[in-house]
Parts: sequence; C-alpha cells; structure tokens
Amino acid sequence: MPRRIVVQPLLAALAVLLLTPINAPAQSAVPIPLKVVDIRWIDTTTSACTDFFQYANGAWLARDTIPADYSSSGVARDMSDINELVVRSLLDDAAARRNSFPVGSTERKLGTFYGSCMDSTAAETAGIAPLKGWLAGIDSVKTRAGLIRRIATLQKDGVDLIFDYSPAVDPHDSDHYIAWLSQGGLGLPARDYYTDIGAEADSTRQAYVEHISRMFTLAGASRAAADRDAGLVMVLETELAYASMTQLEERDPAATDHPTSMEELRTLAPQVPWPLYFRTAGLTAPVSRLNVAAPAFVHRVGELLETLPLNQWRAYLRYHLLTRYAGWLSSPIVDEDFRFNTRFTGAKLLLPRWKRCLRTTDYTMGEALGETYVARTFPPEARDRARSVIRDIRAAFGERIRHLAWMSDSTKAHALTKLNAMSEKIGYPDKWRDYSRLQSSEGPFIRNLARVRRFEWERVVNRPGQPVDKTEWDITMPTVNAYYDPSKNEMVFPAGALVPQTFDPKADDGGNYGALGGSWAGHELTHGFDDQGRHYDEAGNLRDWWVPADSVHFTEQAELIVRQFNEYIQVDTIHVNGELTLGENLADFGGVLTAYDALQRALERNGRPGLIEGFTPEQRYFLGYAQTWRTNIRDERLRSLVKLDPHAPDRWRANGPLANTPAFAAAFGCKPGDPMVRPPELIPQIW
Ligand SMILES: [Zn+2]
Repeated sequence: MPRRIVVQPLLAALAVLLLTPINAPAQSAVPIPLKVVDIRWIDTTTSACTDFFQYANGAWLARDTIPADYSSSGVARDMSDINELVVRSLLDDAAARRNSFPVGSTERKLGTFYGSCMDSTAAETAGIAPLKGWLAGIDSVKTRAGLIRRIATLQKDGVDLIFDYSPAVDPHDSDHYIAWLSQGGLGLPARDYYTDIGAEADSTRQAYVEHISRMFTLAGASRAAADRDAGLVMVLETELAYASMTQLEERDPAATDHPTSMEELRTLAPQVPWPLYFRTAGLTAPVSRLNVAAPAFVHRVGELLETLPLNQWRAYLRYHLLTRYAGWLSSPIVDEDFRFNTRFTGAKLLLPRWKRCLRTTDYTMGEALGETYVARTFPPEARDRARSVIRDIRAAFGERIRHLAWMSDSTKAHALTKLNAMSEKIGYPDKWRDYSRLQSSEGPFIRNLARVRRFEWERVVNRPGQPVDKTEWDITMPTVNAYYDPSKNEMVFPAGALVPQTFDPKADDGGNYGALGGSWAGHELTHGFDDQGRHYDEAGNLRDWWVPADSVHFTEQAELIVRQFNEYIQVDTIHVNGELTLGENLADFGGVLTAYDALQRALERNGRPGLIEGFTPEQRYFLGYAQTWRTNIRDERLRSLVKLDPHAPDRWRANGPLANTPAFAAAFGCKPGDPMVRPPELIPQIW
C-alpha cells in the first residue's frame, strides 16, 4: 500500500510514521503466513455489494486486537513484522561480531551502531550527559550571528529548526539539484494544531506546553524556569505556524515553486546573514540560486530572528534538541516523550528497544544492510515476475490513454511520452551507498546517531548545481512502502514490499494483479498523472503540457472524487478531507481500472484458470485489492492523520474506487442502488 508520494523533500517523515507492523501480539513474534488473497478473512455475513472492505476483511477484523505498543494492525504491520525478523537476525549478527570486522568497514560500523543502540544500561547511566556539549553550545549564544551559526550547526546534527534547507531536484532543470528552503521547525505534528479553534485544540496545546516544561525539568531546569521557557517556545512556534502554508496549500506544485536569486533572498529576509548560514551549514561554494518553497514563511522567520529575544530562541533550540534525541536518553525522558506522543498515536506501550533500534538503523543506515537483506529475501524470479506485472500495468495504462474520448490528441501524445519515459526501480538499487566517510565508535549511541545524521547532511549539502543522481533510492529495502517521484518521473518498489501479502510469485494472476497491480503499481503509475503529478513533464520539469480544455475536464472530474470522499467519515463525526486526499484517491482509482485491464492481458497470455477457492480471476482481483487495505487502526491515530496524511482511511481506499468501477459490480453481481454501485453520473471519467 503505497503510502507515500514524494512531494519534494517535505514529507520524508511520513514513511516512518506509517511503517507499522502486525496483528499477532508483538511478544509472540511468530508471524502468520500471508497470501495475496486469504479467504479466511472474508465476512460471509456481509454482502460484497454493501461494504466490500467489510466483506473482504470482516472475519479478520472481528478477531484482531491492536497490540498495546502499536497504533494500528493489518497488512503493513504483518509484512513489516516478517521483514523485521530478517533484519533483526542480520543486525544481531553484525553487533555480536563487530570487533571481528576490519576497522572502518561498513559491517563494523553497522554492528557498532546497532550494538551501541541496544546498550540500554549505558543510556540509563548517562542520563542527559550525551547532550551536554550541545546544550552548552546553545547557552553560549549571545548574538544574532551566533544564533544563526548555532541553528546551522544543530541542523547538521539532524535537529529540525525554523526552516528546512535541503538540496533537491530543480523543478525547472530536472537534471540538476538546487537548494530548497522550505518551512519547518514545528514541534507538533502539523500546523493546524496551533491554529485550530475549540476545546480539543486548546487541550492539545496546553498538554504540549506542559510536555515541553517537563522535558526542560528532566534536563535539569528548575520548575519556574521550565514553565517560563515552555511558554516562550509555544509562542515562537505559534508564530511559525501562522506563517506556514497548510498541508492543502502545499499540495499545489506552483505554491512551492519560487526560483530565487541570492539578491532576492536578501531582500526577502534581510535579517538573516545568509552567507554565514550557508558557510556554517557546510556549503563550500556560494549559493547563487535557490527554490524558496515558502517565501512568506522565510520572510516571517527573518523578522522573528531579529525581534524575538535571544533567550526565547535559546529555549526553542534546547527543546528541539531534547525532543530530537529524547528516544535515546534515560527512561524518564524516553517515557515523557512517548507519553506525549500517545495523544497522536493511541499506542499504550513503548515498542521494545530492539524494534526501535532496528528501525532507526534501517532508517539511517539502511543501504548498509540492504544487500544482505535482499540476498536473503528476494530471489531473481520474484523480481522478474514483479517486473512483468508492472509491464502489463504500463501497457494497460497506455491503452487507456489512447482510448480516452475526452482528451485531445495533443495532450494524449504528451501523456504517452511521459508514460514511456517513466522509469521503474524494482527490488534494490544497482549501486549501494558508500559509508566510508561515516565515523562510528563504541560509546554513547547518541553520538553515533548524530554522526550518521551529519554524514547524511554532508553527503548532500553541496549538491546544488550538481547533476541529479538518478540511481539513488529514497527508501530502504525492507520497507513496506513504495513511491512515485514526479521530479524524476520514476516509480520505486523496494524488495520489502514485493512479498506476500502484496505479491507472491507463486500465486494466481487474479490475486497478484489486484494487490501488486492495483494497490501498488497501478497506484504509483497513476501518481504521475494525478492532480499534482500531471503538472510535471516526462523529464520531471514543472511544465504545462495540457491543452486548456483537457485541464478543465480533468479538474471537473477530479472534483467528483473530492465530493465522494468528503462524504466519508474519518472517525467520530470528522469527515475525510477530500481535497487533501485527492491525489491518493485518484491514484487508487486509476490503479484499480488499469490493473484490471492488465489482468485481462495476463489472462489472455497465460490462460484463464477455473475457479480458485470458489472465486473467478476477476473476483480474486477485487479481493486482492481490498485485502491490501486490511487495517485496524486506533481512533487517536485516525484523528491525527486527518490533519497530516494525504491518504484516506483504508476502508475508503478499498470501497471508494470500487464503487466507481463497473467491472467490480459485474464481478459480484451488484445492482444499481447497492451501496457499492455509484450512479454513472457521479463516476469520474479521467484515466
Ligand atoms: Zn500514493
């Protein structure tokens, strides 16, 4: 379940957020075998034409309990649990044998990183000590120039502060990187938490201020100083929030596209000594051009840097340092950090340390373990069969474009050019990341974590102006996820996602084309042509290749999807945000239609089997699709996701597209008027 679309550098955090493993109690850790279609999960008491998500998954939902240390269970967790067992054995082995590997080797660094992370005794004993140097650095800030230097230094160590500097693909020259300046630096998960009105929003803000204060106290501040500084942090962040674009505003590629010269940046935020900032951040050559993704935000940051007192800034830096490294300090801080975050996740217990260490290792040094992981889990036959499914999807999408009645020949020609130019990465990279410049040593894990964050920063900091590395992966191999990157016009499917339940090289075409074809490959491909992706051309440049009348048609039809999803309930009385989730919902709908056509191609080629477990290939196709959305999720999580997740809840990702698909109604004998059959005039005619 493609959970993620790369929207330039802004949403990288989302993958971690959604990488949530399993339904078996975590302690038992014996994952159940997964299948692309599992008929044991069908709820035969529900009609397929009334609620297909419930029909396909109801028997599983009835017996599932979300483990205390998770905010959801279902496919993503089941698959991750299996992948994590493999990764754990690799890391345990690397940690146990680390001293036998050559000094400076990647194996030794990997083993040292994970081994130092697992040393909970050292973390307890050290308390706040590993942060002492950074805290003293923050205390030493006495001038505005010193403040900028400190901000750049902390950013290099992975601390999120005020704005986000990151080199990314130039929207107008996709062969080269450009420096991006984006909004950032909030402590709550989304801007809306600062700006929403009402009792619930007030209570979250109050809890946040109390949490900041407790973190300060745990770091050694007096209660009075902690309370005062927590208030200052909240005021500062609220200023940043009001200057930030909403999640929805950021979805428009034009809203974040602002080519800016250095001269213009100086005019936009004259209070910031930009050359000093870039020099401290590690840029070796002067910056001449940037993309300022959020000009109003950067302008406001400039004003705040000049007007807010330095003690307020110091409090802000202190809190962001603490919260960034909180998970790896001693228990009182780890627990306080976890306790506050349960407000957004609903989890009742902290994940076991090995899982937290494993995820951090994979997230930060993933390509160091990727090769061994792939060798153990992903045979060449699996890659070949996955590639053939994806090939059928591409061919089917091309056919759909050629037959669109509403689209002009000119737009069709451009769309086909883009489709043909779209590249795909399947399983693992051809070239692995080089960790030779990464430092590591025994000793506090936090030091190793900061080193790997700095390594990552230094790996990319000087990229502006350099050619784009098109071989690079933005996801690690064991990850249960995939993405489409419009700036590279590519789809990426890591090995960890190409296993059951998503895909099984030994399973039938019906199941595979529904799961891998519909929910994954067809979905990612359609992202190239959704309300965001369609603004990029075949090379990944922001360029309008649409005949105006076709754009009008697209927007009108997409509006039908917005209205359809606005009617669905997210949780309690809160509705799904049809605008925020539009791109994902378009991708799901396009994926279902395209992969269905691809299945027909495969059946023609491979032959049509008889009934399998009582179902036709078409019925198994729709079951395979709907079962990829098998998820049980806590209300707290649903409440926070509506503010920050561009995906609708999984129930609607299953039912929404299928209710718009006549082939679904035909496969299950559904009639006009059934809840799973929307009237023809409400069904969008897009892809
Ligand atoms: Zn997506």
